[in-house]
Amino acid sequence: MSPHDTARPLEVACPQCRKKVLWSEENAYRPFCSKRCRLLDLGAWADESHRIAGESAMDETDLDALLARADRDGDAS
Ligand SMILES: [Zn+2]
Repeated sequence: MSPHDTARPLEVACPQCRKKVLWSEENAYRPFCSKRCRLLDLGAWADESHRIAGESAMDETDLDALLARADRDGDAS
């Protein structure tokens, strides 16, 4: 470390646990505080997108069924 290399370290909040973490070259997991938090965050994203994809697929099916029924009702009346 040279004396000229003393820029104030940037502090960020870990997106997972909100803990303050130094943004430094040494922190391979920035902006996360640890490998665990990074994996947790990625896992949460994957989990959420899977759930949303599953739910929206079901919703579309329901919507199609409703629209089909509405169409039939419209024709009948
Ligand atoms: Zn964290």
